[in-house]
Parts: sequence; C-alpha cells; structure tokens
Amino acid sequence: MSIRVHKLAKELGLSSKELLEKLHELKVDVKGHMSALDDDSAELVRHEIEGIKETEVQKAAAKEEAKKKKEEERLKPLQANLPLTVKEFAIKLSIKPSELIANLMSKRVFAHINQNLAEDTVREIARGYGYRIEKPPTIEEEILKEFKERDKEGDAKKVIRPPVVTFMGHVDHGKTSLLDYIRKTNVVKKEKGGITQHIGAYQVMLGKKGAVTFLDTPGHEAFTAMRARGANATDVVVLVVAADDGIMPQTIEAIHHARAAGVAIVVAVNKSDLPGANIDKVKKQLAQEGLAPEGWGGKTIAVPVSAKTGDGVEDLLEMLILEAELLELKASPDLHARGVVIEGKLSPGRGVVATLLVKNGTLRTGDVVLSGMHYGRVKAMVNDKGEKIEEAPPSTPVEILGLSGVPVAGDEFFEVKDEKKAKTLSLLKQAEEKEKTFSRSGRISLEQLYESIARGELKEFRIILKGDVTGSIEALQKSLEELSTKEVSLKVIHSAAGNITESDIMLAIASNALVIGFHVKLEGKAQATSEKEKVDVRVYDIIYKAVDDMKAAMEGMLEPIINDVFQGKAEVRQAFRVSKVGTIAGCYVSKGKIPRNGKAKLLRNKKIIFEGKISSLKHFKDDIKEAREGFECGIGLRGHDDVKSGDVIDVYIEEKTIRRLTK
Ligand code: GDP
Repeated sequence: MSIRVHKLAKELGLSSKELLEKLHELKVDVKGHMSALDDDSAELVRHEIEGIKETEVQKAAAKEEAKKKKEEERLKPLQANLPLTVKEFAIKLSIKPSELIANLMSKRVFAHINQNLAEDTVREIARGYGYRIEKPPTIEEEILKEFKERDKEGDAKKVIRPPVVTFMGHVDHGKTSLLDYIRKTNVVKKEKGGITQHIGAYQVMLGKKGAVTFLDTPGHEAFTAMRARGANATDVVVLVVAADDGIMPQTIEAIHHARAAGVAIVVAVNKSDLPGANIDKVKKQLAQEGLAPEGWGGKTIAVPVSAKTGDGVEDLLEMLILEAELLELKASPDLHARGVVIEGKLSPGRGVVATLLVKNGTLRTGDVVLSGMHYGRVKAMVNDKGEKIEEAPPSTPVEILGLSGVPVAGDEFFEVKDEKKAKTLSLLKQAEEKEKTFSRSGRISLEQLYESIARGELKEFRIILKGDVTGSIEALQKSLEELSTKEVSLKVIHSAAGNITESDIMLAIASNALVIGFHVKLEGKAQATSEKEKVDVRVYDIIYKAVDDMKAAMEGMLEPIINDVFQGKAEVRQAFRVSKVGTIAGCYVSKGKIPRNGKAKLLRNKKIIFEGKISSLKHFKDDIKEAREGFECGIGLRGHDDVKSGDVIDVYIEEKTIRRLTK
C-alpha cells in the first residue's frame, strides 16, 4: 500500500508544500505532491507530525499553567492557617466583618461571624482582594527544609539502628522487674563499679548481633503522653503478660494504645518460673485479641521469660533485634542530629539537664540544639553508664547539659547550624505557641465533625469508650460502629470498663478522638486535662441517647438529597401572547396534576428546552392553585416565551430528604 503526498498532507492537516518540506527534512526521497509514499515512510511522517501536534498541545497547556501561575504570583501573599472564621479572615484582609459577610452573601455563602469558611471560599474571596493565601511555615518546617538541603548534600548512608522499646502491660506483671533485670545483667555487670545512671533510657549491647534501647518509664500513660506531644519515640512495644495471670484489662488497654500509635508489638510472657504459669493459655488469649503467636495461626512473637531467673531474657533481646531488622529501622549517622526529648529537669548545681534520644544523625558536644522554645550548645554529654561521651549516634539516649530552659518530654529536638539561628527560631516558636493557645479551637468536637467531613479531611471518626460493665460497653460499641458509612467510618479505638482517666484523654489527644462515657465519671485530673486540651468528652446514662447523638450529628451534617418528584403532565394545545405578561401555554392536563408551585420541564420532541418555575396557573381567567387531570389550564413559565403547540410540560416538586446513614 502507498499513499500520495497530497493525500497524506490532507490527512495531517498540512499543505502539500509543508509536507514536502518535512519529508525533505526527514530525508524521505519524494519528487512532488503526486509522488507515492510507501507505508513505512508514511508512518514515519505521521509519527513525527503527531508528535509535534502533541507537544504543541502540551506547550499550550504549559503556557496556560504558567499564565495562571504568573497571575497567582502577581497577587500579594497572605499568610494564614486555614480554616479561618469569618472574623479572623476579615482581620487578615483588614476589612470589616460586615463587608466580608456581604461579599460572601453575594457568592451565596451564608456564614455567621464565628463560622469557619471552606478553603475554596477563602481562596476565592482573597483573590478578589488581590491576595493569594499561603500557609505560613511552622518552625519545624523551616528546620526540616534546612535538614532536607543538608540531606541532599550529605552522603546519607543508611544503617540499621537499634530499636527503641517501651514496656507495657498490666500492673504487677513484671515490667519494672524485667527492665531492671535487663539493665543489671547487661549494663552493670560489665561496668566497673556497677553504678548505672538513671537517665530515662538505656541501651543494651548484644555483641555483634546489635543493640536495643529501652525507655525507662513503663506503662502506656508515659508512652501516650509522649505521643500526644507529637513525637513517637517508640519503635516496638514489649507487652508484658504474667503467665500465671493472663491478659488483664490494662493489657488490653496497652494493646489499644500501641495499635493507635501503629507500633509493633512483641509479647514477653513473664513469670514463666511460677508453678501456676500457663503459657499456652496466654497464647490463646493473645490470639483472641488479634495477636496470635506462631503456632496459633499468627505471627506475633511471644517469648516466655522470667525476670526472676532470667530465663528467656536473652531470647527476648534477640527477638527485638530481629524485629528491628524486619521493620528496617534505618538511620544515617552522617546527618545532623534530630530526635526526641525523653526527660527534662532542673538540677540544682547542674542547671538544665535533658535526656535526649537521637533518632537520626549524630549528636556531638558543642552542637547547637533547639527543642520547642529552648535552645543551647551541648556543653557535656553523659551516656546511660554515666560515662562522658563526645558523640551519640542514632538510637542512643544521652543526658545533656547546656539548654536554655527545661524541654518538654515528647518534644522533638533538632540540631541547628548556629546559635544565632537557634535563638531566632526559639523566639519564633514562643510566638507560635502563644498564638496557638489563643486560637486553639478544640481538637475534635461533634460540632466540627461535619466541617471536617465536608472538607474531606475526616475519613475515620475515632471514639474512646468507657463504661461501667463490659456488657453495656460491647452493646454500645457495636451500635456506634454500625453508624459507619461509606464516607466516614466510626471506629472505637479503645474501650474498657472504668472511669474516664487522664490516660484516656491523652489517647484522645494523640489520636484525635472523642471520648464517650457510659455510666462512668470523668476523673478530676482527666477533666482538667480535657478542658485544657479541648477534648470533647460526653457522658451518657442511656445507650440509645449516645447512639442518637452521634447519628443525629452525622446525619444532620450530611447534605440533604434533592429529589424531583413527578406531579403531572400537560400537553400544550395552543400558545397565546399576552401583552405585558408574555406567552401563556394553553394546556390540557393529560396526567396527574399541575401544582402552581411546581417546577416545570418544557419538552419539545422529547428534548428538554426549558427548566424552571411556573409563573402563573389559570383556569380561564381565574388564578388556581392546582389543575387536575382531564382539565384545561393556562401555564406561564418564568422567563420563557418560546412555547409551541405540541410541546409537553412535565411538572415536578422538589423534595429535600435528610440523608440517612446508609451503608
Ligand atoms: P510492674 O507493675 O509491671 O512493673 O511489675 P513489677 O516489676 O513491679 O513486678 C510485680 C511483682 O512481680 C514483684 O513482686 C516482682 O518481684 C514479681 N515478679 C516480676 N517478674 C517476676 C518473674 O518473672 N517471676 C516471679 N516469680 N516474680 C516476678
């Protein structure tokens, strides 16, 4: 097969001359526009030209994009953290709230002064005033930017780092004993003098196999309190379960806390030396909690140990190193240091003493660090063995001197280039903190639920459930979880019997959850924290009230569905021009009824040519509310005069239905 040049030119939308030039460029030998081209050559040209066309489309799109960008750039930047309320936005724009409200109304947005505005609305309005909204960088972002630049520069060689481990479990199951045993046998034994320094964390070396870092404060409260501050220091939770007692309420609570943090769990079945120890029973119970060990259909590592005899402890340590490898915990010692504050205190004579856990990079004496509002040059560094050290690689806990103030446990720390920059950043952080306390509008409350759903920010609504008896907790949990919809799933992340404690509030803060109590009290300290941190806590006496509240909140907040409900059909027999009024359709009601307040669809040859309101409905000269089947009537359509005999008018009524929570 062949194709002539002029034909191909036509196909490609070029003149023959243009194509001949192109062919010449491509070194295809042709004489004139009547020459025949073989398939391969034709294909080659098609490919070339299509390619050019495509790049032209791309170019046009890029140009459009650039134009948009330029337009955006021409706007003045306005730094603001979204969402903004009407009042806050007006202040930012330096206009009166009333002006803003009027402006919003003209865009059909009806909002009261303290209402949060949707992001799109804020951006659109801002554009109207010549602004583009920019999110101000947080101090952390500023520093991270610097870190990223350095990451690029530095040769970020990654190595496996020791896992950071926290012990959790029921009271008296042996968390402290295990921590002490490990410290004594693995740290003290090898040190002269045998004195250990309690600095809030310690590290155990297992020869060539690796090392494990333990956080010294057992229990989920300390764990979650740290997480509530934003940093997750722990990589692996060792769940301590006494073999003679089995899984108890706090064991389950610990599982929930660890899960909410997304942290790996390794189980230590302790007190295996006791005659009453029943390891299989514990494994079975673990399986029931979704932590099935090997041999029970799962993969959870469960190691029988004894803090008394030391049996199995070595195995546990090895398993932790193995877990670190599985989790691929890696860090780059070459980078500048960053990590988490484990403890901070003011020591008479020594000044501010802080225990830091290096998570990435290497911290050295003489480095400048910043944590929250405090900064300083590291004057001295001491490890968990009380030794002075110069360098702390990843996963090493160290005690340092030299910070300007006591840092908060759970806050992150960063190494900053120089002291001057650290000072500026610390001042900025102070201002940021101040603003936060002023503007904090609560973490999550029922009232805010909808806004978050509407903005698509919330896909999972988390609840912490406390009740008086297990039976009612289960019933309530089930009813609540059944409220889950396609848009939002409602998930109870922790449920237990007992009063609402501070630990529950901490979990709520760390996980952005709501707390529901059933026949229980909010403990004093928990109340204080919940008020300070603005955590929504609701206590109920009746199950259905709790469920109804959640349901109503979620339902009322879903957009109503608007349905057109068919009312009747009218056939246009004749169109009349009425001066000053317009065209009136003389109709016959062939089906149903025509209500005066209906919505009309005018059809011609089965196509909708107008959709709108009925402006008048008459029977002869009289205005009527409704025309019934088999009767004649005159219908006026608002703002539409093009009506002809043979047209059909279908009439509907709009019905709003509140959306029920459907599965
Ligand atoms: P925690 O509340 O989880 O920190 O538990 P503790 O470490 O304070 O231990 C509670 C009690 O159990 C103490 O009296 C310990 O001596 C005892 N205990 C802890 N581990 C073991 C163990 O492995 N075997 C035996 N027989 N007793 C243990």
